[in-house]
Amino acid sequence: MNAAPHFRRIALIGFGLIGGSIARAAKLQGLASEIVTTARSEKTRARVAELGIVDLVVATNAEAVEDADLVILCIPVGACGAVAEEIAPHLKAGAIVSDVGSVKGSIVRDMAPHLPDNVHFVPAHPVAGTEHSGPDSGFAELFINRWCILTPPEGVDAEAVERLRAFWAALGAKVEVMTPDHHDLVLAITSHLPHLIAYTIVGTADELGQVTSSEVIKFSAGGFRDFTRIAASDPTMWRDVFLANKDAVLEMLGTFNEDLSKLTRAIRRGDGEALFDHFTRTRAIRRGIVETGQDSAAPDFGRPHPPLAKQ
Ligand code: NAP
Repeated sequence: MNAAPHFRRIALIGFGLIGGSIARAAKLQGLASEIVTTARSEKTRARVAELGIVDLVVATNAEAVEDADLVILCIPVGACGAVAEEIAPHLKAGAIVSDVGSVKGSIVRDMAPHLPDNVHFVPAHPVAGTEHSGPDSGFAELFINRWCILTPPEGVDAEAVERLRAFWAALGAKVEVMTPDHHDLVLAITSHLPHLIAYTIVGTADELGQVTSSEVIKFSAGGFRDFTRIAASDPTMWRDVFLANKDAVLEMLGTFNEDLSKLTRAIRRGDGEALFDHFTRTRAIRRGIVETGQDSAAPDFGRPHPPLAKQ
């Protein structure tokens, strides 16, 4: 693995869960002489200054990128094109320009046309997150042992890709390179569809007539509460993800609907063997996720279970 890279100045545009986590981890690892950041609202900028994690908080995106040798957009996917256009004239020659967006095809389409030829554009997606957002939600350990996918356009400077790979590795991530379209297809099934299902089921439970909302909440430990964590994710971010990754999500949704119909049919026909076989296959997938260190092996996601009090 490459040694940790050092940047003279890193600019983070947007300081929420992801921007804030990058800032905290990069500071801890000493990856920059100076980290400068900005956010859209005065409120967030004031809070970031108060937190004292970065060296400089500035009011505009243009000021933030001035003289930076690594610029990372940590803002919603739908905002990246306009911000790329805004910062383009202020970028330093030779700078690496990246992002953290959860969709990659639309990022390349929206950002690339605005960027000057003398910068290196290397889009990235750290596959790590929580349901929290805002400047207080970040933490330095977020990326440890999580994947970060880079989707460099063809012909981009290999050394720039390598520097960004080493940057993410220094934040604790495992790095993989793929095309934007392949990324969007993989993430449609592993992230976007599960979020859509969680958003749907939590909404459905809320609209049920015969089961009251208080019963849904009271008996949620039966499985429902695990969906509610995902369904609590940021509405702006997820609106943008579904708008930006429409084709891949619709493709996966088609396959999902077919599989749901198969299971519906098995239940209707009382086909226990089909249900058992299916659930056996999915149980093995869970084991695989635990074995590769992508989740805890602790039962019930490691929730504490207090001891039974003696009567
Ligand atoms: P967040 O906590 O909500 O922070 C978003 C930041 O972007 C804030 O600083 C916000 O400024 C700024 N912002 C919002 N709208 C903007 C606009 N139109 N123009 C300029 N700045 C704007 O979000 P996040 O969770 O860090 O997500 C940021 C990016 O990371 C998204 O592209 C998302 O797809 C990607 N991502 C998220 C996760 C996750 O689990 N959350 C995981 C991987 C990747 P104000 O606070 O001033 O509004």
